[in-house]
Amino acid sequence: MSAAALALPDFLPGTVWLVGAGPGDPGLLTLLARHALDQADVVVYDALVAPDILKLARPGARLDYAGKRGGKPSPRQPDISLKLVRLAREGLRVLRLKGGDPMVFGRGGEEALALAAAGVPYRIVPGVTAGIGGLAYAGIPVTHRDTNSAVTFVTGHNASGEVPDGLDWPAVARGAPVLVFYMALKHLAVIRQRLIGAGRSPTEPAAIVSAACTPAQQVVETTLERCVGDAEDAKLDPPAIFVVGEVVRMRAALDWLGGKPAFSGDPLGRPPRQQAG
Ligand code: SAH
Repeated sequence: MSAAALALPDFLPGTVWLVGAGPGDPGLLTLLARHALDQADVVVYDALVAPDILKLARPGARLDYAGKRGGKPSPRQPDISLKLVRLAREGLRVLRLKGGDPMVFGRGGEEALALAAAGVPYRIVPGVTAGIGGLAYAGIPVTHRDTNSAVTFVTGHNASGEVPDGLDWPAVARGAPVLVFYMALKHLAVIRQRLIGAGRSPTEPAAIVSAACTPAQQVVETTLERCVGDAEDAKLDPPAIFVVGEVVRMRAALDWLGGKPAFSGDPLGRPPRQQAG
């Protein structure tokens, strides 16, 4: 169906769209994200945006990488925000594309504040966040009536890459039967220790989903006490989601992917594009 039939808004020159690309499978893009990729002049993207999604950018669009590269430090956040403002002031349609949802542990709020402060018109397009979509592709419901009526999303990193100090771990441990951690792989041992110390059972089911919703997806079912060793044995790499709670048991019945790749091939059958910058 065409953008006009769907009444999708025009991507106006001089504006920034802050868009979630979802966790990996291009099929999980929203129609607005796809529409933005069709129209953008420049796509400023992060490391977590799947290459298959960048292939959907309009031919001729500039692809501008704003993530970490080869061990070098990532560009400072204010620099990225300033770049968005500058590109918009050049009269470009600026697509700021982020993995998952732009407002979930993705600094979308900071960038939106900078755009608002600079008077640059912008739009926010939510995406499927890894902590929900990644679990769905692993066959783990985030909530289920029999097990939990609440879920907590936690980041395992603060701005300097450490386990957040300000987190009230006893409150997190008590707060919801299901806990979903982002950016947790590096700090699993500390997270385990804090949760068990705050009263969560060592035998509680847990799972780690790495590269969720991509052809390289790996799922390790484990328990809170075994999670560190099991993650090492499986040689899991980031990005990964760590989930603790009874919902993990449902995977025994709900592993609908069953080890098959989450998707395969180029969604448009196009050859790979050269990425600039
Ligand atoms: N805005 C993103 C999160 C960015 S923080 C979102 O809404 O999903 C980065 C963390 O997200 C990673 O460390 C990892 O915990 C998680 N993540 C993002 N994409 C993922 C994927 N495909 N598989 C597993 N975890 C993912």
